[in-house]
Amino acid sequence: MFENLTDRLERSFKILKGEGKITEINVAETVKEIRKALIEADVNYKVAKTFTDEVKRKALGMNVLNAIKPGQLMVKVVHDELVSLMGGQATDINLAGNPTVILIAGLQGSGKTTFSAKLANHLKNKKGKSPLLVAGDVYRPAAIEQLKVLGQQINVPVFTIPGSNDPIGIAREAVRVAKNNNQNVVIIDTAGRLAIDEEMMKEVEAIKKAVSPNEILFVVDSMTGQDAVNTAKEFNDRLNFDGVVLTKLDGDTRGGAALSIRAVVDKPIKFVSTGEKLDALDIFHPDRMADRILG
Ligand code: GDP
Repeated sequence: MFENLTDRLERSFKILKGEGKITEINVAETVKEIRKALIEADVNYKVAKTFTDEVKRKALGMNVLNAIKPGQLMVKVVHDELVSLMGGQATDINLAGNPTVILIAGLQGSGKTTFSAKLANHLKNKKGKSPLLVAGDVYRPAAIEQLKVLGQQINVPVFTIPGSNDPIGIAREAVRVAKNNNQNVVIIDTAGRLAIDEEMMKEVEAIKKAVSPNEILFVVDSMTGQDAVNTAKEFNDRLNFDGVVLTKLDGDTRGGAALSIRAVVDKPIKFVSTGEKLDALDIFHPDRMADRILG
């Protein structure tokens, strides 16, 4: 994960090796390399600039502490800025409501269906919840089948209305059924398209209006870098979602989406998905991610 970025950052810290103290000159050289590393990682340009300006300011400000070596000081400053860039602290999902209604949105292929099942599994095993999965992608029978198969694997029921092409009605009915059956979390997997399209947006908005979710999670493929960030922005403008789920982090060598999304969209990353298996799901902790990035 993020190997390229880790390597590049490591190289930029080497500039300070052997230097007795941080100076305007060596810090400028170092942050220039850090900025290049971030841009290469597909971090949004403005985000990279603000980040490195802040790193420079803090490194120069901390230079009074002669006890620590410039290289170490820089690693600490970058670490702290990475944590803050990614949101500071882990953010929980909102489990209020009876049942809690969670709406899952995103483009086709982003990993929505897989994540829906992973989330159900997580809430069942870690939070003692009794979830109901809802197959809302009425246009792709394969998607409904996929959710059913996943539901079976984790022993979580999957709600469908065979033959229905009304995802709003399905979502509403699912909430009613969950209430009657004491299922306290309803996870609604919605239809995606390969690119943003007006009909898909209208449909998700209508589902949102019909079931008033406690939590709307936007799922995005981290490997798509700045495209992921732009897609997030468009979905957020329409849905005002509560959190981001970054998928396929196991295949992401660059890290641009993870680093930019919070700053650009101002919504927390709540989960990361790191594989196809149903237990490959982690709560997103900015500090742990910063540790990993710095190797
Ligand atoms: P949807 O169209 O948004 O519902 O996407 P799917 O859940 O069907 O996922 C699309 C493909 O990505 C499937 O082959 C999944 O197995 C795969 N996938 C989903 N999440 C991950 C992940 O975190 N890592 C990897 N490597 N593959 C994933």
